[in-house]
Amino acid sequence: MAAWKCKKCGFTKEGRCKPKKCEKCGAKDVFEKSIEGGKSKCR
Ligand SMILES: [Zn+2]
Repeated sequence: MAAWKCKKCGFTKEGRCKPKKCEKCGAKDVFEKSIEGGKSKCR
């Protein structure tokens, strides 16, 4: 599974899809992929 990191607060979340919003600091579109994990089948 891939992991996504918030560029603003450093919060990391695992998931196939890029999170739309950081659940910690509330910023939008601040995630970058920190760990590549398998196939990304994100719709
Ligand atoms: Zn954040």
